[in-house]
Amino acid sequence: MIEQNIKIEADQIAIWLVVSGDKLLQISGQVGQFERTWQELSFAHAYQDQIVKVGEYRQRPCLLVDMGNERVDDDSITAVSMRALLMQVDEELFGIVARAWQIALFMRTHRFCGQCGATMRQIDWEMALQCSRCQHRCYPRISPCIIVAIRHQHCLLLAQGKAHQSRQMYSTLAGFVESGETLEQAVHREVFEEVGVKIKNLRYFGSQPWPFPHSLMVGFLADYAEGDIEVDGKEIICAQWFKHDELPNTPPTLSIAGQLIQHTVQEIQQSLS
Ligand SMILES: [Zn+2]
Repeated sequence: MIEQNIKIEADQIAIWLVVSGDKLLQISGQVGQFERTWQELSFAHAYQDQIVKVGEYRQRPCLLVDMGNERVDDDSITAVSMRALLMQVDEELFGIVARAWQIALFMRTHRFCGQCGATMRQIDWEMALQCSRCQHRCYPRISPCIIVAIRHQHCLLLAQGKAHQSRQMYSTLAGFVESGETLEQAVHREVFEEVGVKIKNLRYFGSQPWPFPHSLMVGFLADYAEGDIEVDGKEIICAQWFKHDELPNTPPTLSIAGQLIQHTVQEIQQSLS
């Protein structure tokens, strides 16, 4: 699905995802609109041989151009952050933008071989970089991260992480999977480490790529088994049981955290009716 060495026509319309620094460039005043021709993007023409096709959206190819840290000083162009875009485009386009961003980041951080230090180069049969000297090959980094909604009777366990403190937001528990660990082991370990409780009836819910910067969120539902809440104080500042109809400020349902909470609330409501 990801293609390199793309041949493009100057007047062909495509979804152009031009990355500059840690932002995406779009035409000023056209929120979430990236449909343009290559000839309109004169500021990016120096990068023509690095174009990568990252998908298709509404029958248009989606093409990534990474300008690295070069900035564009032009009033007709606005640079938007990935997080801002999350609110501006639909889920499908956001998924493609997220992929583009992760590939740009991969190329930037794998310019040299980790084994021998020689220059890495793109290969054209799959999305990977290969060492020009020792042939060591690297693929885009994906970091699996578990996320879990824990239910106890009519309540959900929600926690406030350090990152959520300023927004007074409570969310489901989440954490990175460690080397050599199954997803299930990671869920049990993270929950016990962060809030000191044991869980049971672990069920897979769904997954979501999360490009901040290259996580794959793997969602689970679980039931409380035993133990009193005891927060670790490092990642989690506060955690408590909330009744399904007295929830605090929680993430929107465009994130898997929001979907897990919504699903659990619906399950509780159904059990009551
Ligand atoms: Zn090498």
